[in-house]
Amino acid sequence: MSHATLTVDEARARLLAAATPLAETETLAADLALGRVLARPLVAAVTVPPLDNSAMDGYALRLADAADGAWLPIGQRIPAGHPGGALKAGDAARIFTGAPVPEGADTVVMQEDCETDGDRVRVVRPAKAGANIRRAGEDIRAGQAVLAAGQRLTPARLGVAASVGATELAVYRRLRVAVFFTGDEIVMPGQALAPGRIYNSNRASLRGLLGQLGCEIVDLGQVPDRLDATLAVLEQAAAAADVVITSGGVSVGEEDHVKAALERLGRIDMWQVAMKPGKPLVYGRVGAADFLGLPGNPVSAYVVFCLFARPFLLARMGAEVGPVKAYTVPAGFDWPKPGKRREYLRARYEDGRALLYPSQSSGVLTSLAWADGLVDIAAGATVKAGDPVAFLPMTELLA
Ligand code: AMP
Ligand code: MG
Repeated sequence: MSHATLTVDEARARLLAAATPLAETETLAADLALGRVLARPLVAAVTVPPLDNSAMDGYALRLADAADGAWLPIGQRIPAGHPGGALKAGDAARIFTGAPVPEGADTVVMQEDCETDGDRVRVVRPAKAGANIRRAGEDIRAGQAVLAAGQRLTPARLGVAASVGATELAVYRRLRVAVFFTGDEIVMPGQALAPGRIYNSNRASLRGLLGQLGCEIVDLGQVPDRLDATLAVLEQAAAAADVVITSGGVSVGEEDHVKAALERLGRIDMWQVAMKPGKPLVYGRVGAADFLGLPGNPVSAYVVFCLFARPFLLARMGAEVGPVKAYTVPAGFDWPKPGKRREYLRARYEDGRALLYPSQSSGVLTSLAWADGLVDIAAGATVKAGDPVAFLPMTELLA
């Protein structure tokens, strides 16, 4: 077992290198595919929009015919969904947003720039040739790959898939993740809190984090701090899932049995990651499953999940994993004392600057509930209010 101290970037790179995308894919109704990862590129069967169409309610005409405020007869009416005939020489067509532009028309003039008199119309404000026409294919051309394999199906991407008429999508199957929670002190909400006990908060947070990733969760509950019990649940977890994630029990105390169980049943790599909160990060294999051991401390577990487990799971799910998105924003705080490790501070972006939660203790879980991002501060750095800092929005870390 190695205890190498790695940088955040090294640990992330090692985990990503170890993550093999799922082999199994399935075909799914597009309506059920939100959050899934596309396994094959989606090639457009149709051109979007299929025809030149009007971007406005107005009049389709040949702009040259409308010069000098000439009155034009309104030869036809073209609502959306009802293609008209070709535009007769010298005519205008009444047209509505989304309706096909008739052959021969080169411009749509919006109705606000026209004046009508019975069945004739004239243009009363300068119009630009070609204006207000959405061109056929300006969004998508038939045969074009509109979505790439490895993309997660967001609402916008499902919209694009629908716009080319897709009803089914080739996606990776759901990743199965087994979880269990160590610690003789933890009890489930709903149970009596005996002296020395605390409620299991990691279960609620971790289930939420995994749920947002679209993982199938196999919840094996709480495990007492005993080697035999840990061995039994670890074996069960590995048989049931693609990835096993645990909280707690990975420190070096004699009440920490996860490492020993993992060494007995599989293999283990343990790293110290030079960061705060966090530090111990366990990666290993048990049978065919990957193993990730999160710290027990709820703030550390959460942050370690976001920075390491999440990209690992995404890669396992077949998704492309980009670098962590950070925005440079002015600090709304002073950070006068340089830290020994890289720190991820619970922060909120407000009034154009990053504010810190008053307590950055890793025992204070309310800091995470308050935060909408993390400020990433390098080891040894100090910050004065107004200095640029890296802000990692939670929306990026949780999506
Ligand atoms: P450990 O890593 O097992 O030494 O746990 C570190 C700290 O996290 C201890 O204070 C534990 O009581 C706490 N802890 C461990 N698991 C949980 C959990 N599921 N919910 C809340 N706190 C926990
Ligand atoms: Mg423990």
